[in-house]
Amino acid sequence: MTEPISTPSQTSPDRLHRLILPCNEVVKLISEAMDRPLPLGTQLRLRVHLLMCDACARYRQQLQSIRETLRTHPDQLTGPQRPTGPSSETRERLIEAMRKRQQP
Ligand SMILES: [Zn+2]
Repeated sequence: MTEPISTPSQTSPDRLHRLILPCNEVVKLISEAMDRPLPLGTQLRLRVHLLMCDACARYRQQLQSIRETLRTHPDQLTGPQRPTGPSSETRERLIEAMRKRQQP
């Protein structure tokens, strides 16, 4: 007896959001949307995807909280996405701190 197994051709609800917009596109768009407004059609597809995809919704929340931290505590964190780079002194300090942590 063969059991019915779902095939990729089946459009089940948990796949629908990936047809609307693939997850890897969503990840890109989420960070883009924080820097500049997206076209309305893209915004809508993004919103629908986020409603259906837990992973991407969680990613967006994390990114938002990271950006919030960067805004409120600019001296504590650094990253390539920061619009106004940290002063070279701050960066040196961070690099030094990271080096020390990596060493045994
Ligand atoms: Zn997704």
